[in-house]
Amino acid sequence: MPADEKLAIDLLKELRDLTANELGAQRVAWTPTWLKAREWFRATLDGLPVEHHLDAAGNSWTTLPGRSPAALILGSHLDSVPNGGWLDGALGVIAAYVVLRRIASEFDGKPPVTIRLVDWADEEGARFGRSLFGSSAFAGTHTIEQDRGRLDANGIRLEDALAKCGISIDSIGNAQRERENAAAYLELHIEQGPVLERLALPLGVVLGTKGVERHAVTFHGQEAHSGSTPMKARHDALAAAAKLALEIRPIALRHSDAVCTMGSLKTYPGIVTAVVGRCETTLDQRDLDAGVLAEMYRSAQEKSHQFATEEGCTVEWSRIWNIAPEPFHPELIALCEEAARETAGTAHRLPSGPLHDAAEVSRSGIPTVMMFVQSLKGISHNKIEDTREEHLQLAVAAFDRLASKTMAWIAAHP
Ligand SMILES: [Zn+2]
Repeated sequence: MPADEKLAIDLLKELRDLTANELGAQRVAWTPTWLKAREWFRATLDGLPVEHHLDAAGNSWTTLPGRSPAALILGSHLDSVPNGGWLDGALGVIAAYVVLRRIASEFDGKPPVTIRLVDWADEEGARFGRSLFGSSAFAGTHTIEQDRGRLDANGIRLEDALAKCGISIDSIGNAQRERENAAAYLELHIEQGPVLERLALPLGVVLGTKGVERHAVTFHGQEAHSGSTPMKARHDALAAAAKLALEIRPIALRHSDAVCTMGSLKTYPGIVTAVVGRCETTLDQRDLDAGVLAEMYRSAQEKSHQFATEEGCTVEWSRIWNIAPEPFHPELIALCEEAARETAGTAHRLPSGPLHDAAEVSRSGIPTVMMFVQSLKGISHNKIEDTREEHLQLAVAAFDRLASKTMAWIAAHP
């Protein structure tokens, strides 16, 4: 008996009705609406032979003990951004729930391996700017000292918001205990991009999450009067920046899935009658291959120096943030592809540009893979976020198959 795809969609709609207003989903972590969503989820467990608890970082764990303690973990996040969509995160949790129900009934409450469902706490970081909060505590990559004093828009400290939900920030590292016996992690998520829709494919097999190099790039020239300064005598910082803004496109296009974005640009003095003396830009570069990422970073640096020289300027780089690519487990990628093919007839392999909790789980050494389902128009973090219902049903069915294949894989790799 397969997982109940209809039930999954009904529950997603029920959750939407419970936690959205006319602007979209409002399940921001550490808020009453988020707690309400979690309470609702907790109630759906009634009658199932499972144990439920929150760990030290507020992650919600539901365990169906099996004959072996080796655990297959299925999960995602119930929290949303403000004015968010109905599927981001929720789909993965609800799909995991119907799969867990199917496994409990198929094996009379005692499957060959232990099945655990996790709803990660604060994936989005929408209120305090700290994404992947719960999964990083689980993985041991949390950053308590930097996060302790984070403030929300109303000046409330993260530490205090956590305390209100019964979490002590100093103890969140204890969530690492949940890694015991973890044998594999699977996550179903909407793509949040346009790739699958453009290929007219419902399902994607995620190869991993892209690494990110994020830098502030500032060009220094010379402020000068726009009327009196001849063209050849200028040190125009904007001209140098503009050349780089165009050059990052060929730098990215040399690689099939790489992306480079200059997302912000400020000019000084920023008035109509002055040549730009200083131009501050930001550059965000991403790829799944660490070598490609390093090469793109090097190329952008070289070109920025070349353009600065051409325009009589100098350039200065400073790193804002970076994270290494996290490739998923090759054998689980193969199982995910099989499951997608058997369910939908086709599957497409792609990397994930956005980060996900799965990246933290994988970084902690637990074999991990994600499955994507098509997003309409590639839109997410918005109330118009949507996926065709027949695709949601295919996704739940394929994820269910993947869970069975992974249980067998765990049993064969004691
Ligand atoms: Zn998400």
